[in-house]
Amino acid sequence: MAVASKARPVMRRKLVLASNNAGKVRELQALISTSGFEIIPQGALGIPEAEETGASFVENALIKAYHAARHSGLPAIADDSGLEVDALGGEPGVHSARYAGPAASDDDNIDRLLAALDGVEAGRRRARFRCVMVFVRDAEDTDPLVAEGCWEGWIGENRRGSGGFGYDPVFIVPGTGLSAAELPPEDKNRLSHRGQAAAVLASRLRALTGG
Ligand code: IMP
Repeated sequence: MAVASKARPVMRRKLVLASNNAGKVRELQALISTSGFEIIPQGALGIPEAEETGASFVENALIKAYHAARHSGLPAIADDSGLEVDALGGEPGVHSARYAGPAASDDDNIDRLLAALDGVEAGRRRARFRCVMVFVRDAEDTDPLVAEGCWEGWIGENRRGSGGFGYDPVFIVPGTGLSAAELPPEDKNRLSHRGQAAAVLASRLRALTGG
């Protein structure tokens, strides 16, 4: 007798991207474009931001993905990411987007970070970006796909470059002497925490869709 496969087939090939951050949407669309799914940012469907109440990157990523899947009726992908600075005991971590306050801009957050590291010598400014990216088939999915990425570097003393978003102008990429904001987008996508997580997730999505 044939044994039924336990794999749950994905019937729809559209998926909603659970982010309203324009910088992230741009990067994620480029990164996931090989997955065999048509990607729709949640803003295009009028889906509001989820409240990020989790204590970890994976919790927050799942909150955002389930929220988008519930509102759209589509499979959803979400990431949660942030910057960990050793000299600050791992802060801002899950608080990266709101480090300088609830309505903080990227510039405000960088100002606070540079002030917190004022006087910290070059050798003690190690930091890393982390990203957890998840895919849920629907709002009830009990077996989400989860992928992680980590990008090591250090925090410079001044802003450099105008690309990217968030803390990119002060994140120095080892081996390049450049900030993440000075890297061409395709280089950032290849090296970054989000690029690493997306590559793993995209290959697992291709396996799901038979692509
Ligand atoms: P999230 O939208 O809750 O995942 O918040 C992530 C925050 O971490 C962003 O708003 C940025 O401040 C920071 N961040 C995450 N990834 C990057 C990156 O690739 N470059 C610069 N900052 C980043």
